Amino acid sequence: MTSSTGTSPKVAIVGAGLTGLLAAHGLKKNGFDVVIYDGEAHIDARPRDWTIVLHWALPVMLAMLPDNVAAKLPRAICNPDLEFDANAESLPVFNGVTGDLMFASPMPGSRRITRQRMRAVLAEGLDIQWGKRLQSIAGDEAGLTLAFEDGTSAAADFVVGADGANSRVRNIVVGDAEKARSTPSGLLFATAIANYGDAAKVKAVVDAHPVAAAMMGTDAVGGCGVLYVNDGSEGAKARELADWTTFWIKIWQGKLEKAVVGREAIALLKNSDSSKRLAPPFNLQIEWTPDDSVCYIDEMKYWVPVPFGGPEATQDGRVTVVGDAAHPMLVYRGQGFQHAIVDADNYVKALVAIRDANWDVDVRRREMAAYNAEIVERGAKAVTQSVQEAALSFDVEKVSTMLMARQGHGRSA
Ligand SMILES: Cc1cc2nc3c(=O)[nH]c(=O)nc-3n(C[C@H](O)[C@H](O)[C@H](O)COP(=O)(O)OP(=O)(O)OC[C@H]3O[C@@H](n4cnc5c(N)ncnc54)[C@H](O)[C@@H]3O)c2cc1C
Repeated sequence: MTSSTGTSPKVAIVGAGLTGLLAAHGLKKNGFDVVIYDGEAHIDARPRDWTIVLHWALPVMLAMLPDNVAAKLPRAICNPDLEFDANAESLPVFNGVTGDLMFASPMPGSRRITRQRMRAVLAEGLDIQWGKRLQSIAGDEAGLTLAFEDGTSAAADFVVGADGANSRVRNIVVGDAEKARSTPSGLLFATAIANYGDAAKVKAVVDAHPVAAAMMGTDAVGGCGVLYVNDGSEGAKARELADWTTFWIKIWQGKLEKAVVGREAIALLKNSDSSKRLAPPFNLQIEWTPDDSVCYIDEMKYWVPVPFGGPEATQDGRVTVVGDAAHPMLVYRGQGFQHAIVDADNYVKALVAIRDANWDVDVRRREMAAYNAEIVERGAKAVTQSVQEAALSFDVEKVSTMLMARQGHGRSA
């Protein structure tokens, strides 16, 4: 295979979210030449942060990372000082009407991290080009050319789109913008970061659960937990309880043309009847939130994967997608990043197999066709499950039939 660099084939990853960064480490660890292009101006361009629980795919993720990066995982953990026991490694779900515990989903070995801090940990040692928003990909026998919105371009031999839920690369590989378009869920999703500066208020969150808790069965789903206990630096000590940063989320039915943020979002949430109807502490956390807190409300969207287009769309097996780009799902049961980890691992294995076959074109076609077929099938199942899960979460009679109640957070796709 002719390489754009003349030496080892170069892999371009579009998107420096967690999936793109993880895929880059996996590829680099296996000797590939990798560059990441991201449309944001820099890594801290947006103040938004949220927590992600690493559970069934955590061992796969750790195996993909070089030891020096894997060793820094505690920096990303919301409360790394916590004594992790069976209770800390579970997610309690409370009854939204009565406030009573309905069930606790066990997640043995799980760790809840913040996206921003995990991103900072994973970004170390990688070649990331910021301010590069992908527009198009062209290709010929000699290689691929990525064109960016700033008018620049870059060469690569393989391109993998890790460009999130509204993926540009998904459009390209599906080959039909209509088929690649995500579906609005009719569910609004709020995420907020709260610094109460008050030990009693933080304690109310921690008393619900030391990591995170959820509430379901009424006309809104609530969630809350601890976001940061320290400043995230190496070996940082925990702050006083009053100064811990907490988070909350809320999901409810509604439509929104565009995201509502900041003060406007907080005012809307504080005045909403469905917020007030949540049982304590979920309703109180919203009420207590300082008006200048980071808060976003958006409509959740999903996309049930369909088979990708032919050789023209995938540049004959040289372009594909991973992570939310491939299967944007609703946040129920925290499966999105677990599947992204599996995708990244599968992608690295496919490229290794192609390299082992001396870049043989037939092997490339076969390996990438298998990769694409698997991600479409697994992704479609996981996305569909997330949509079904959402539909059951607002009715207290149906919550017990949710996968979360019956099978917990275990792998189901
Ligand atoms: C509140 C919340 C809670 C969640 N909880 C969990 C959980 O508990 N467990 C779990 O497994 N998953 C969870 N998820 C899902 C998880 O966050 C995602 O699956 C994960 O972050 C992987 O995202 P990604 O890297 O694929 O995409 P993203 O994080 O969206 O990253 C995409 C990147 O691509 C860049 N980009 C976009 N378009 C372009 C372009 N055209 N050109 C260049 N760059 C581009 C963006 O700037 C961004 O940096 C949760 C999600 C949310 C919102």
